[in-house]
Amino acid sequence: MATDSWVNETLYPDWGQRFRVVRELARVQSDFQDIMVFESASHGRVMLLDGVTQITEGDEFVYQEMLTHVPLLAHGEAKRVLIIGAGDGGVLRRVLQHRGVERAVMVEIDGEVIRLAKEFLPGIGGDAWHDPRAEVIVGDGIDYVRRAEPASFDVVIVDSTDPIGVGEVLFTDEFYAGCARLLTPRGLVVNQCGVPFMQSDELRETSVRRGKSFPDVWAYVAAVPTYVGGFMTLGWAAKDGAARLADVATIRTRAEAAGILGATRYWTPEIHVGAFNLPPYIAEALPKA
Ligand code: SAM
Repeated sequence: MATDSWVNETLYPDWGQRFRVVRELARVQSDFQDIMVFESASHGRVMLLDGVTQITEGDEFVYQEMLTHVPLLAHGEAKRVLIIGAGDGGVLRRVLQHRGVERAVMVEIDGEVIRLAKEFLPGIGGDAWHDPRAEVIVGDGIDYVRRAEPASFDVVIVDSTDPIGVGEVLFTDEFYAGCARLLTPRGLVVNQCGVPFMQSDELRETSVRRGKSFPDVWAYVAAVPTYVGGFMTLGWAAKDGAARLADVATIRTRAEAAGILGATRYWTPEIHVGAFNLPPYIAEALPKA
């Protein structure tokens, strides 16, 4: 993987990106995955899991803002938020930026990811780790979903690895059915669905699964530079189809009330609304209306 001072990402067998490594900070084989954190010459600090880029300090804001602010502001009254995965703490920090959030539970399977993120990527989670509204649990997301009280959360955010290894259970029929059960009547779930130009099956297959438990299934896009291959898709499943149709003025008003307006580097009300408009090559992976 690390050749001289370069690290090659191993996500795709025939194509990939590489980073010049200034300094390796940690290399740990946890019970679940190979974790590597290094200082890059181009993107600040970077975390790879099993050779796949998870987060870089340089562009994490794109992914984290879109994975967090879009569902919370589309819902409009989210008070209780469940986060699955996301061990770097970036989603937790963004969720807790919202004034209206009373409780955020984060369930990450790998305690080593949390430990290394706190030590080497402290700016990603920031003060969120100590926020009294936050509860951080080391455990399997599907176990938590199985046991959660019905109608106990307004929004679920799934920031997982790809659907291989430990992340696979988070893309199953059972997982989505469990999310539907634990969500309140206007509840919704979003999850990372890969880069469709390279991983179109991921969006296609998980959309079918989401559709078995939710009436409104769609996706929205974000251009994350280090998730290479063009737009990344974030999967969307909602109990109320109106949530993703909120207009720019409504989203702006909600963002102002939540304390988010002007506090972002990628998300804006216009980008929020525009992100649900999909290029045909992505829309074709979604179930027909
Ligand atoms: N943003 C990254 C991306 O899209 O490539 C993913 C972030 S990374 C922090 C995802 C996290 O999901 C990993 O820390 C991994 O340990 C966690 N994860 C994978 N399977 C899980 C499961 N079944 N339950 C809870 N967390 C899980």
